[in-house]
Amino acid sequence: MSVMWTVKVVGLGVVAFSLSVELLWRLLRRLKPPKTLNEVLFFPSEVACMEHIFSPASPNSCCCPLPHGVETSFTRLLRFILSASSSLDLCLFSFSNMDLCRAVLYLYRRKITVRVLVDKEYSVITGSQVGALRKAGICVRNVGRYVHMHHKFALVDGRRLITGSLNWTLAAVQCNSENVLVTEEPRLVQPFVGEFCRLWAANDPSQNGPFSDQNVAHN
Ligand SMILES: [Zn+2]
Repeated sequence: MSVMWTVKVVGLGVVAFSLSVELLWRLLRRLKPPKTLNEVLFFPSEVACMEHIFSPASPNSCCCPLPHGVETSFTRLLRFILSASSSLDLCLFSFSNMDLCRAVLYLYRRKITVRVLVDKEYSVITGSQVGALRKAGICVRNVGRYVHMHHKFALVDGRRLITGSLNWTLAAVQCNSENVLVTEEPRLVQPFVGEFCRLWAANDPSQNGPFSDQNVAHN
């Protein structure tokens, strides 16, 4: 075997090895799971103006006395909700926070599919925004089967879960010690999707069967 032949074989071997390493590296990168969103927010949130969230093109347009351009737990929560691109499902015990209502109406006007489940009793308390949602045309279903429908969760695009102790009220956001978990972990999101679908179907007012949640006497 000539020296030249040996050099060629070794050279080809090096090239083949390099290509193999490169291919293996690319394969491993593809197999690596994408980073899953997991975030925790704590409240009460610093009181600040939210105008820059709703009007990012003109952040200095508001002249109210509150601090402006401040990022807080609440701005973070609003951004997560406003990130919806196709659907927003809400399952809420109490809904009286006007900024959160504004965010929901903002999405609805941009053709995002919005479905809302609320506690039947708390949907009509003073300050409830449920009437404003219905007036805008959003489909809201009452849940009256339980002592309270005490959930507080939102599903953004069916793949991002927002849940925790926080009621969607001004007091909860500004005064209470509360927590909110935001996650795209499928093992956590999917059971909430299932629970929303279950409650949504069980509280369909067009289904007047004896087992409909809408028809269970509220004692
Ligand atoms: Zn302002």
